[in-house]
Amino acid sequence: MRKKQRWLLGLCAVLFLFGLGAARPAPRSLDIYFIDVEGGAATLIVTPAGESLLIDTGFPGDRDAGRIAHVAIEVAGLKQIDHCVITHWHRDHVGGVPALAKLIPIKNYYDHGLPETIAADMQAEYIAAYRQTTQERSSTLKPGDKIKLSRSLDVRVIAAGGAVLGEQSSKPQIRPCGNNFESKPEDTTDNINSIGIVLTFGRFKFFDGGDLSWNIENRLVCPRHLVGAVDVYQVDHHGTDASNNPVLVRALNPKVAVIDNGPRKGGEARTFATLQDLKQIEAIYQLHRNLRTTDKDNTMAGYIANEDEACQGNFIKLSVEPGGMWYTVSIPAKQISRRYRTR
Ligand SMILES: [Zn+2]
Repeated sequence: MRKKQRWLLGLCAVLFLFGLGAARPAPRSLDIYFIDVEGGAATLIVTPAGESLLIDTGFPGDRDAGRIAHVAIEVAGLKQIDHCVITHWHRDHVGGVPALAKLIPIKNYYDHGLPETIAADMQAEYIAAYRQTTQERSSTLKPGDKIKLSRSLDVRVIAAGGAVLGEQSSKPQIRPCGNNFESKPEDTTDNINSIGIVLTFGRFKFFDGGDLSWNIENRLVCPRHLVGAVDVYQVDHHGTDASNNPVLVRALNPKVAVIDNGPRKGGEARTFATLQDLKQIEAIYQLHRNLRTTDKDNTMAGYIANEDEACQGNFIKLSVEPGGMWYTVSIPAKQISRRYRTR
């Protein structure tokens, strides 16, 4: 090779490497949006690689689907929902599917298994609409399954179909275990079958248990604590007292709790007290002020996304910084945000 050619080649290599460095985008955050569906559930997770996972779709009709699509398309900049998990068959979780699928493409669906018979607490029309929208091509999740997302993220199913990780059977529902064991009457609703998910991103850990209820919550902790301490707890079952067994809540020991309640649903007083009594709790967020209880049973105004019954559907955003060492929780409509250190 002649001297001039070698020099040109060297210059190209330098420019190429420089270009790579300049073109490489800054590392992105992991974002979790708690969308207000008035006491239903809709949690949108967007990975640093831009993949999306929506857990539950709110109530039937256009209101909740519209709110979810607004956050997904206009706030998060998504063109599609890659993965959609329906934790269980109640209308405040599965109801939004057909309307949402008209607003944004949904690629993969997951649930705890299509019901063979429609139980008293389910409504046939919403399950039929789900079957039709998904063309019955949903995947059934079992405890131990993982949802395949970016390598930096681990999304693991810890409960589904009434069983928790490591159990051979979902029966019996009530299994005495632990020093503070206390049972409630058997939960005969589909809440017991909810899919519960643990998401890990670096040091950051998040738990979303759908509407899991009291007796199965104890089994998440005893005989083995399957989740470990978390940074952020999406409070089970919209913060109702039929769930949120203190044995589980204390074991999760979150620094931040987010209650996806409505103005007159969830966010109940005993659950709020359980959260408030946690030694390391730094903040409790609510999607709504609970209008049925007093100020002492609600978090501070700055941590409530929607304070009035007639609301605009303000969402709560959680952003985990690359590496998972810090995260920020904000209520963009109120221009309020606070940064937390991962535990
Ligand atoms: Zn629910």
